[in-house]
Amino acid sequence: MDSIISLCKRRGFIYQGSEIYGGLAGTWDYGPYGIALKNNVKNLWWKRFVSDREDMYGMDAAILMNQKAWVASGHVGGFSDPLVECSNCKRRFRVDQIIDEDDYKEDVKKFRNFVHLYIDSGETKKAANEAIDKNYKISEFLSLSEQKKKDFLNKVNEIIPIANIAAIEGILGQIEKLESYSGKFARFYLNQKVTCPSCGVKDKWSEPRQFNMMFRTTVGAVESEDAVSYLRPETAQGMFVNFKNIMDSFHPKMPFGIAQIGKAFRNEIAPRDFLFRVREFEQMEVEYFIDPKNWEKYFDMWEKIRMDWCLEIGLPKEKIHIREHAAEELSHYSKRTTDIEFDYPFGQKELYGLAYRTDFDLNAHSKNSGVDLSYFDEETKKRFIPHVIEPSVGVDRAVLAILTSAYVEDEMNGEKRTYLKLAPSVAPIKIAVFPLLKNKPELVKKAEEIYVILKKQFGAVEFDDNGNIGKRYRRQDEIGTPFCVTIDFDTIEKNAGVTVRDRDSGKQERVSEKDLIKYFSEKFQ
Ligand SMILES: [Zn+2]
Repeated sequence: MDSIISLCKRRGFIYQGSEIYGGLAGTWDYGPYGIALKNNVKNLWWKRFVSDREDMYGMDAAILMNQKAWVASGHVGGFSDPLVECSNCKRRFRVDQIIDEDDYKEDVKKFRNFVHLYIDSGETKKAANEAIDKNYKISEFLSLSEQKKKDFLNKVNEIIPIANIAAIEGILGQIEKLESYSGKFARFYLNQKVTCPSCGVKDKWSEPRQFNMMFRTTVGAVESEDAVSYLRPETAQGMFVNFKNIMDSFHPKMPFGIAQIGKAFRNEIAPRDFLFRVREFEQMEVEYFIDPKNWEKYFDMWEKIRMDWCLEIGLPKEKIHIREHAAEELSHYSKRTTDIEFDYPFGQKELYGLAYRTDFDLNAHSKNSGVDLSYFDEETKKRFIPHVIEPSVGVDRAVLAILTSAYVEDEMNGEKRTYLKLAPSVAPIKIAVFPLLKNKPELVKKAEEIYVILKKQFGAVEFDDNGNIGKRYRRQDEIGTPFCVTIDFDTIEKNAGVTVRDRDSGKQERVSEKDLIKYFSEKFQ
């Protein structure tokens, strides 16, 4: 990864965000070649998912939305991770990243059994409240022998003879938190078993709390609760809230989809792995509206389109894996989700999600806004809230997959070289044109002529006469240019055409000037 990050900086693909001020964690800035690569990725996506199709409507919604949209979508209430702070070094961690999940779950099970024993033994509200306050003490009893537990319960029974429903509910409320790694029990567990990864201290953990990942801001001059808005954490909601607008303007027949490419923001606790986990990123999403009886057919359709696109941007098939989400992993509203995972240098990780979200989103927006978001099917005379299939991919994750799989170190003519084996479809520069020597006006003039012709045809063409030819090749190899065209004396004196060098093999062949456009058109097909 270090070599790739270094190449990206050196050659003008990607820079650290706000670098001269020491950076801002979780942000990256795209340089000239980076944005060219990224735009190629986005354009290919838009072509395959939107403009090649008859059933898609593109849009670009505002990043800031009415806060009610985020309440309806569940992001205000639930879009959060439990965080814990080490009071010794003041660093914060995601609980799920520092605990041993299996061990934790085992302890939760024991604790739950104990609380049930405690409840079954009968007690009052006062005792239950005490229990809530002193969960960690109760938890210490997990390690007691059965006899000692019984003794304890008997003692409780002596003082508190009658069970109290409210108290039991209070305790059960605590139990729900156990699964989400937050609350007092999680703190007890951490202090018993987890060492701070930063300072090595064991028992200074705070109580873990849910932390909302949305960036909050206020709109307008007055900082009141009504003025609160958020930088969107996903582009999807912008499409759901425009569902009715698209219906009213275009009267589409089901099935149809809305597509969007745009920025999204998540206040990640621990941004890492270069472009993979960042705080500001770009998404490409489709919300495809269907009659639920056909959902499997359209799920399969988008799975195929998604895979074709991954191959089209040049990702190697052997690094792509499809992973089906297990039932317990699915969001409460999703009936099926499959991820394309990719072999990144830091592991096999999610690249492209595909989720059947049922009618959850439109239903929620319909209820919360009071606006009818149903669809009337003219054929079946049936009115219903459409269901949704959602293919969703991060642009930056796709760029990272391309860069990491294209990065090659090899040897050519006895020299070490580094190059990016980019598919021509995404390469920032498709052809570089050189005069063999910089100080021969006749070579330069001819090279410029050919450069203009090729640029007019293929767009992403670069002219380079800096340094010697070997140095120019090395530079073009590193930015992933598939072909270099050199104009030499034979081009002019013998009308022998130009040489075309292939990036991957280093082989050169002569191509006559008049055949150049045809030659490259075939190569790029
Ligand atoms: Zn610490």
